Amino acid sequence: MDALMPISLVHYYDTRLHQILCGLRGFDHRSTKHSRNVTCPSCVGLLGKRPTMTALSPSDAATGNAAL
Ligand SMILES: [Zn+2]
Repeated sequence: MDALMPISLVHYYDTRLHQILCGLRGFDHRSTKHSRNVTCPSCVGLLGKRPTMTALSPSDAATGNAAL
C-alpha cells in the first residue's frame, strides 16, 4: 500500500545527468522530465538558471563528463 510521503514534491529529472536536478538520490522521489510539472523549489530554482532544457547544443553537450 502507499505510504504517505512526508514531502510530495515533484522534482525535475535531468535526462542528461541522469539524476534529479536538485541532487536527490534514490527512487523514492517523484520526478518528471517536464519542467512545468516540477514543484520542488530547489529544482525550479535550478531550472530557472537554465535557458533552454530542450535544446541540446553540441557545445553544451561537450562540456560535461560525457566522455567516458
Ligand atoms: Zn528537487
